[in-house]
Order: sequence, then structure tokens, then C-alpha cells
Amino acid sequence: MNVNTLIIGAGAAGMMCAAHAGPGTLVVDHAKAAGEKIRISGGGRCNFTNLHASPANFISQNPHFCKSALKRYSQWDFMALVDQHNIPWHEKTLGQLFCDTSAKDIIAMLRAEMDKVGAQLWLQSDVGKIDHDGSSFQVQLTRDGRETDIQARNLVVACGGKSIPKMGATGLGYQIAARFDLPVVAPRAGLVPLTFGDDRFKPLAGTATPARVSAGTASFDEAILFTHRGLSGPAVLQASSYWQEGDSITLNLTPQGSLLSFLQDQRRSQGRKALTTVLGNVLPGRLVDFLRTDLALTGNIADQSDAQLGTLCESLQNWTLTPGGSEGYRTAEVTLGGVDTDALSSKTMGAKSVDGLYFIGECVDVTGWLGGYNFQWAWSSGWAAGRDIAQRTR
Ligand SMILES: Cc1cc2nc3c(=O)[nH]c(=O)nc-3n(C[C@H](O)[C@H](O)[C@H](O)COP(=O)(O)OP(=O)(O)OC[C@H]3O[C@@H](n4cnc5c(N)ncnc54)[C@H](O)[C@@H]3O)c2cc1C
Repeated sequence: MNVNTLIIGAGAAGMMCAAHAGPGTLVVDHAKAAGEKIRISGGGRCNFTNLHASPANFISQNPHFCKSALKRYSQWDFMALVDQHNIPWHEKTLGQLFCDTSAKDIIAMLRAEMDKVGAQLWLQSDVGKIDHDGSSFQVQLTRDGRETDIQARNLVVACGGKSIPKMGATGLGYQIAARFDLPVVAPRAGLVPLTFGDDRFKPLAGTATPARVSAGTASFDEAILFTHRGLSGPAVLQASSYWQEGDSITLNLTPQGSLLSFLQDQRRSQGRKALTTVLGNVLPGRLVDFLRTDLALTGNIADQSDAQLGTLCESLQNWTLTPGGSEGYRTAEVTLGGVDTDALSSKTMGAKSVDGLYFIGECVDVTGWLGGYNFQWAWSSGWAAGRDIAQRTR
């Protein structure tokens, strides 16, 4: 069978690309349904973009690479599409936009956009050998137990990263890049809970509190959540993308206002209160209990000297921890690294060395923060590739 464009992966980026790639487009996926990650995203409501999306919210060896696509197809363009389809949405927090009703609205919208241009979708199709004869690609597919050879002028690789293998992630994109001698920045789990081998936080499991979490050069002010195995919550997930095995992270448990001034104030006005009671005003009680021995939280606040309060503030605001690892691809929301952007055109997502070969979405070395940025990258990069294919086909 001959097609103009074969897209591998019916996820966010692949469907977006199919809606813009022009006639003769076939999307194939080994899953039973298209857009499975969209369906489960944002707790079933899909955080589909972010009002504040800008290149600063993305991690890549080349931070400039994402600029062109994000500018040419921005959050405002995607919001306009969502509005055109009368999908109700709301801003939750920090510019994060969610569907009011269901993430399935976004999948239905993308499927409708694909139908509008006649793009075909084959599910439960396994990709086999891929060849290129200089002018077109030959791809072996197995569908319903039958082998089919597809000949395609353009091949778009949109099969995501390695995160959540249970949902069909395979890392095939990296193998295809290697097949065409394109470099790949080593993939690793991102937006992932961090773990501590000694289960030290088990007694605190389920406790959440606002904090500033710093890893490498990045800091995030959001909630943290103690878990049976370690730390999670938005601030930790964000920081995890900047954390490398063996590194420490720093927690500031009272990022707002001056803790020292607050404690000195309390010492003046509420001197007979236990130190733990005073701390209970700024931290969850379970966390204060947990820290009681390590930080020697005894006596009344009036008993504390300025030096002791200073040491206490330092401990609470500069709590340095070295995670043993992360939960890995099993629960990671994204995969960092991927096809090296040096090998791709930032305008079209096309491989510089192989005409007609494109990589889009998560399999590229561009990874967004938590908060709708990863879908925006899928929309922007999918649009850029689709648009280029359509223009070249005309
Ligand atoms: C639990 C969870 C929640 C998330 N929530 C959000 C959110 O709210 N907002 C946000 O911006 N981002 C979110 N993300 C991240 C976001 O889902 C991804 O960044 C995005 O889906 C990437 O799009 P993609 O098209 O590149 O890859 P995917 O959406 O992963 O699509 C890849 C497709 O390729 C198919 N595929 C893989 N391997 C093969 C193969 N060998 N053969 C054939 N097909 C194959 C897969 O079945 C899949 O359909 C979330 C991720 C997870 C795991």
C-alpha cells in the first residue's frame, strides 16, 4: 500500500500532525485506542496547555530548539481550536488549562480534525522492519495477524518516550533514530517521584505541605507529598527532571515570608507555648512530630535563643536530602532526553540527514515542565511537521 505520509504513534503529537499533513496520511499505533495518555492525563481532565508556556519551561540540550515551533503554533492557537470545538475548559492554577468535562473531548477533537482531512487510523498494528531507498520509506506492519508493507514518501515518528510501559510506551522512536544514524540524548525518567531506600518517610505517607524544592539550578514552589517510598507532589516531580542519580535536593519547608521573624514574634507574644505547637502553625502536625527528635524540638518557644532559632530555620529551610533513586519509567510522566535536536530542523522537525523523516513529541530531546507544557510541545511539534509535509506535497 502506498501513502504520502505514515505516522507511527496515534498519541498527542501524531494525531496533531495527521490533522495538518495533507492528503494520503495513515497513522498506525499498536494500542487498542488512540490517545491513551491524553485520556488518563490531568486526572481524566487533560491539562492540555498552559497560558504561560514559553521556551523557558522546557528542558533540552539545546534550549533554543523549541522556540520556533512554540512560537508558530502556540498555546493560543490550541486554545482557539479547543474553542472551535466548543470544549468547555477552565484554568486551574498557575496557567494550567483543563477540560471541564473529560479528556476524551480532546481525543474526539483530534479524531474529528483527522477525519476532516481524511487521515486514516490503524490501531493494533505492530511496526516491523523499516527501510529507506533514498526517495521513500518501506515499513512492515502486522495488523490482525497479517503482514502489510507500506510505502511512504514521508515517515513521522511520534511514538513517545519510555514512560509508563503498561500504557504501550516502547522507546521505538529511539531505535528508529539509531536505524538512521541519528544521535539520541540518553533517555531518563522525568516528572517522577523520588525514592529513599530506607523507607524513612513511611510514617509521613500521605502528608502534603507547600515547599520550595531545588535540584541543580532549578527551584519549584508547589506542594510536596510524602509517600511510603519517598517524595512526590508537584514541586518534587518538577525538580526530579533536573535531578541526576547521586545528586542531593534541597527542601525549604517554609518558602513564604521570614520564618525567623515569625518565631521571634511568637517568642515575644506566646512565650509559654511549646515550640512544637508554634511550628504546628506553619507545618503539618505529623511533620513536626516526625522532625521532633532530629531537630531536638523540646521546650517552650521562650526557651529558644536567637542562635537556636537560627539553626532551626536553617534546618527547615535548607533540608538537604539525597534520594536513592526515582520510581523510574513505571510512574514517570515523561521521558527526558530523546532524539538529539542537532539532527533535526527546529522549523520542521525533519531529520537533516534523511529527507522525509520527522520526529515529533516526546521522543525528541525537548521535555516540558509539569502543567500542560508537554502537550503543548506535542501540539507545536506535530503541527510544525504536518505543516511542512503539506507544503512540500502541494
Ligand atoms: C499519567 C500521565 C499524565 C500526564 N498528564 C499530562 C498533562 O495533564 N498535561 C501534559 O501536558 N502532559 C501530560 N503528560 C505527558 C503527556 O502525556 C506526554 O508528554 C504526551 O502524551 C506526549 O505525546 P506524544 O504524542 O509524543 O506521545 P504519546 O502520547 O505517548 O503517544 C505515543 C503513541 O505511540 C504509540 N506507540 C508507542 N510505541 C509504539 C510501537 N512500538 N508501535 C506502534 N505504536 C507505538 C503509543 O501507543 C502511543 O499511542 C502525562 C503523562 C502521563 C504518563
